[in-house]
Amino acid sequence: MSAGPTTVHVVPVDDLIEHDSDGGDCPCGPNTEPVKRCSDGAVGWVVVHHSLDGREQSEL
Ligand SMILES: [Zn+2]
Repeated sequence: MSAGPTTVHVVPVDDLIEHDSDGGDCPCGPNTEPVKRCSDGAVGWVVVHHSLDGREQSEL
């Protein structure tokens, strides 16, 4: 049973690079955001990785 915070990585599929979903030291410069789990109120982390193939550029 793990007592540490939960970390969930959101990684784009079929991206140009390989994302580091273990160390949190990814070249894409992911955003780490705190999230509260509804089930028990514990705070976890969501690491949102950025795709490098430009698919997100349209949102700017
Ligand atoms: Zn990444």
